[in-house]
Amino acid sequence: MSRFLSRRHSGLVAYVPGEQPDSVEEYIKLNTNESPYPPSPGVIAALNEREAGKLNLYPNPDGKRLKMKLAAHYGVLPENVIIGNGSDELLAFAFLAFCDGDRGVAFPDITYGFYPVYAELFGTPCEQIPLNKDLTIDLACYLGIRKNIIIANPNAPTGIALGLSDIEAVVESNPDFIVLIDEAYVDFGAESAIPLTKVYDNLLVMHTYSKSRSMAGARLAYAIGQEAVIDDLVKMKYSFNPYNVNRLTLLAGEAALDSEEYYIDRRREIIDTRAYTEAELKRLGFVMTESKANFIFAMHPKKRGNELYLELKERGVLVRHFDKHRISEYLRITIGSRAQMDALINAARGILN
Ligand code: PMP
Repeated sequence: MSRFLSRRHSGLVAYVPGEQPDSVEEYIKLNTNESPYPPSPGVIAALNEREAGKLNLYPNPDGKRLKMKLAAHYGVLPENVIIGNGSDELLAFAFLAFCDGDRGVAFPDITYGFYPVYAELFGTPCEQIPLNKDLTIDLACYLGIRKNIIIANPNAPTGIALGLSDIEAVVESNPDFIVLIDEAYVDFGAESAIPLTKVYDNLLVMHTYSKSRSMAGARLAYAIGQEAVIDDLVKMKYSFNPYNVNRLTLLAGEAALDSEEYYIDRRREIIDTRAYTEAELKRLGFVMTESKANFIFAMHPKKRGNELYLELKERGVLVRHFDKHRISEYLRITIGSRAQMDALINAARGILN
């Protein structure tokens, strides 16, 4: 810490992203929930020399064409959509817009690790509501809680999804507060709350291109909600970083929507590989949650979580271990290609024998 850091942030504990090794060849990388598949051929073709040659020009600050395409895709209006530089940025806009010292936020104690970091950064009180023993969300705790709420659905790192009627109950019982549903992993088997945004003006649904559209490196996400709430976020964006999404990423985002079939097939492969991996790991004695995401959350009753993490790493397989109360025996394992998962299963077998 330098002697110049403001006192306000002297106690801030920053988010720690999963390891990003210098060389992709170094590890079988199953630690940050990226897609094992490249973006669609249409996306790659969109990022051509001609478009790169226009990087002297700023992008359209509203990402107008992409916004119109997303709106048509989800059956909403462009006014219901905001585009961001990854969901992390849109989350920041939501904290800036809707939370302050008096209007706090609630989320599960075990969820995406960025939420408490933003609460601290933006100086908003946060209530971290314990998950049930089986790592499901304790829904009753969110009903009529009179705070802004963030729920990742499916939750991370558990992969467990809530049904739409549960989401609706939370939204309906907190009409004067924002309920943000972070659907980063929704495309791998859960149900999206986007249709409910037509009914509830306090619901905001956030999606990312980082997982199911194979574009983590492009940094692109969007949120959908009623116009007034989207306008609040737009105000934050124009007070922070008007040109938040670059030209090439906007083009890639449009091209990805034109390649839906490619992505539907890739998601199906990931869901099939998830089922295969779960079955194989169960045969080795692993216990896991019921994941609807592109990762599984598993533990082995005979091997400590951190030991398994380190021994897998020694064998060239990188997974995510959280040194956190209640989940320190678990590993979060991204679903990669079938060959990557076979390497993981073989490594685990070798360690356990
Ligand atoms: N929400 C959740 C639940 C996540 O797991 C992640 C990925 N780390 C994000 C948001 C951030 O995604 P993005 O790449 O869009 O910033």
